[in-house]
Amino acid sequence: MKEKLYTIPLNDAVNENDECPFCFIERKLEQDMINFVLGSSSSYMESDIREQTDKIGFCRTHMKKMFDYGNTLGNSLILKTHYQKLQKEFQEQIKHFTPGKVSLADRLRKQSSGNNSIAAWAAQKDCSCYVCNGLQENFDRYMETFFYMYTKDSAFHDKIVNGKGFCLHHFGLLCENADRYLNEKQKAAFYPEVFALMEQNLHRLEEDISWLIDKFDYRNKDADWKTSKDALQRGMQKLRGGYPADPVFKAQ
Ligand SMILES: [Zn+2]
Ligand SMILES: [Zn+2]
Repeated sequence: MKEKLYTIPLNDAVNENDECPFCFIERKLEQDMINFVLGSSSSYMESDIREQTDKIGFCRTHMKKMFDYGNTLGNSLILKTHYQKLQKEFQEQIKHFTPGKVSLADRLRKQSSGNNSIAAWAAQKDCSCYVCNGLQENFDRYMETFFYMYTKDSAFHDKIVNGKGFCLHHFGLLCENADRYLNEKQKAAFYPEVFALMEQNLHRLEEDISWLIDKFDYRNKDADWKTSKDALQRGMQKLRGGYPADPVFKAQ
């Protein structure tokens, strides 16, 4: 049953009850992708995969994660043919390049014209990433599954509304997708529920961080930590997503 492919990991993520189930899903998908790219299956030895990584490349974040993961030979093989492809593209770019014209007004305002073709090409490379693409594709399926379960599975719905909410990054994506997957009646119920959930949980984080600060006061030295011991990493996650305290992900 294909549905289980997404419902089971989504349920696991919700049962984890950390600051954001989508962060949990995203971390798992990212690690799966990095394992796929550089791990023991040696996907980089397959010509169809290499053709894609040659063309798409990797963003800065994932280059760093690939470096940290290890596998110097695998990384180098991937880079070598990507370089070959990139240099060909660069030659084409040079052939068609003319410097952009900057008007006198822009020059006075110290602004660029924004139409330099090499700058645009290089900027596009920055956000072209094989790992991001794979992640995005699967992540979208989880969003769809989330709304399917939220509307059809009352146990799932209850866990969400009694849970810790979402990080702000994924909450934004959730709202965007709610407009797509919910009908008007469902939206009328969904938004007040998740807004209240986010309000409560942003406030909870603020209090956890406040108590963490108070713990630095020598008078509170022996006081109970309550839920504040890891408030900093959770407070950062709640704002931008991800797990700041995670160890580096390395090849097993
Ligand atoms: Zn998140
Ligand atoms: Zn990436």
